[in-house]
Amino acid sequence: MDAEQFRQRGREMIDYVANYLENIRTRQPYPDVQPGYLRQLIPDYAPESPDAWDDLFKDIERVIMPGVTHWHSPHFHAYYPTANSFPAILADILSAAIGCIGFTWASSPACTELEVITLDWLGKMLELPPDFLSCSGGKGGGVIQGTASEATLVALLSARTMFLHKAKKDNTDMEDGVVMSKFVAYMSDQAHSSVERSGLIAAIKMRKLETDDQCALRGHTLQEAIDSDKAKGLIPIFVCATLGTTPSCAFDSLPEIGPICEKEGIWLHVDAAYAGSAFICPEFRPLLNGVEYSMSFNFNPHKWLRVNFDCSTMWVKDSTLISDAFNVDPLYLKHENQGQVMPDYRHWHIPLGRRFRSLKLWFVLRLYGQKNLQEYIRKDVRLAHEFKILVLADERFELFGEVTLGLVCFRLKRCDEVNERLLKAINDDRRIHIVPSHAKGKYFLRFAVCSAQTSSDDAKFAWKVISEITDSLLQEEQCY
Ligand SMILES: *Cc1c(COP(=O)(O)O)cnc(C)c1O
Repeated sequence: MDAEQFRQRGREMIDYVANYLENIRTRQPYPDVQPGYLRQLIPDYAPESPDAWDDLFKDIERVIMPGVTHWHSPHFHAYYPTANSFPAILADILSAAIGCIGFTWASSPACTELEVITLDWLGKMLELPPDFLSCSGGKGGGVIQGTASEATLVALLSARTMFLHKAKKDNTDMEDGVVMSKFVAYMSDQAHSSVERSGLIAAIKMRKLETDDQCALRGHTLQEAIDSDKAKGLIPIFVCATLGTTPSCAFDSLPEIGPICEKEGIWLHVDAAYAGSAFICPEFRPLLNGVEYSMSFNFNPHKWLRVNFDCSTMWVKDSTLISDAFNVDPLYLKHENQGQVMPDYRHWHIPLGRRFRSLKLWFVLRLYGQKNLQEYIRKDVRLAHEFKILVLADERFELFGEVTLGLVCFRLKRCDEVNERLLKAINDDRRIHIVPSHAKGKYFLRFAVCSAQTSSDDAKFAWKVISEITDSLLQEEQCY
């Protein structure tokens, strides 16, 4: 493909993408295919000589689309949203064209410098304490990780190194492995599975602490766990607090947990993967209170801030603690401006290579402006409340937990088994797509506002589908 062909095919592809997103509400949100469907549709070997563009292009609808779950359909209400917008898609095209690998400042200065500045912009939008921002001239700063899972792992590994250094300074003659075997980290029983996994990867004991009846981790629970572990000779090093848990969008009590971590000298990491985007609105910013006690904070603009996957923004108060944990310095990566003013982001995360991801953040922040992004968040929260009112008006149903942002958790006032059948019937019907969750011994259904196109009518439509299916499910029940 030469540049002229690229121009032509590029226009066709942009048209296809624009049409796809413009007309996405006509597609069924969840596909009908069975596992293994695709193997039957394409050859067993890559073509020996080149295929024609037109043949490939036709295969998008024939091979790919039948097996796509349409996350941007306004009838998709599963998991949490994943973000999408035209400005971010355009920026990703530019990023692909520049195609640099920005591991050091010298490997592509714009790639590093734009990331530093956009993370400061975004940090200011969230009113993060200034010691998280690079522009305040301290050791703080932000970085784009691929996912929240990586951010948690990086924070935990950094805490591990910090405490190993501390043990060395205290003149421990124990081997690293022996010291590490005494380390313990904490998460709530509602934290994301990736937090538990980071403990497995880092080989650190990860204790799941019980939450209160609002699914929130409370200070006294943490304090009791720390006290009892210290009495056993263990060394508490890390707490991951969640703002906006994945099962039910609950908020750990940061104002209680924070001071405890500060007093105990424990690394506090805050995972706000979904909820973080909402903190750009002044009315939701109080949910972030207590972040000033944390060492690291992370959320995913790729969930709810119109920036396509992957873009998980992480801020740290002391970046030397992260770069210390990950610093190896081979000669071929050294450069003459090393360590001056601008970070070498390769020391801030696990892979060496990194894409020019700040471009899409920059495009989105500039082309929407703070005002429109705030309005977009508010619209989704409003829709969740509209849906909540529909649930509450139906006596057969009850809510699970509170509606704070764009998620409504609800269940039939029946046993789990009936709720499980309701979930299956809703998804089998195919008009909308949702997923269930489980907490506090209860199974419930989750309605998340996901697509940027979801409107008030779509929320009403989802409820109409659910209540129709409930009617027939409960009628069948009576026939048993
Ligand atoms: C979605 C989610 C994650 C995982 O996000 P990735 O970026 O896919 O790793 C982690 N924590 C919470 C609270 C989430 O909602």
